[in-house]
Amino acid sequence: MPMFVDTSPPGQCIFCRLVAGEIPAARVHEDELTLAFMDIGQVNPGHVLVAVKRHAATLLDLTEEEAAAAMRTARRVALAVREAFDPPGITLLQANGKEGDQTVFHFHLHVVSRHGDDGIALSWPRKDPPFAVLQGYAERLRGVLAAG
Ligand SMILES: [Zn+2]
Repeated sequence: MPMFVDTSPPGQCIFCRLVAGEIPAARVHEDELTLAFMDIGQVNPGHVLVAVKRHAATLLDLTEEEAAAAMRTARRVALAVREAFDPPGITLLQANGKEGDQTVFHFHLHVVSRHGDDGIALSWPRKDPPFAVLQGYAERLRGVLAAG
């Protein structure tokens, strides 16, 4: 994961300044709610960030409209990355909170062109709980969702 961490206050964060044009970015696409630009780290050529324009720290702070717009832009960018760079794979990555590996606290998602043995790794320690435990987890979530 990237080591850079932006600790700027809301409204002055690096992505707000980038959206406002106060700092340069290699812009890819812009619409009413989102801005897509090249990640300066470029894990692989064609690595793009999709951010919402309004300052919202995480996925949980987005409106439904912003969330839909971010995924719509990510899909459009992914199609363009396929056309322009032809990577054998594309990964979307979206992190929330310090423990979730978020480093810039302004909602964004990564569209990453992927190649075999490109050094990207996500540890995924399966726990495989019994099915009854899964049902219990699902019941808790259904309860929250039903409450609206
Ligand atoms: Zn911001």
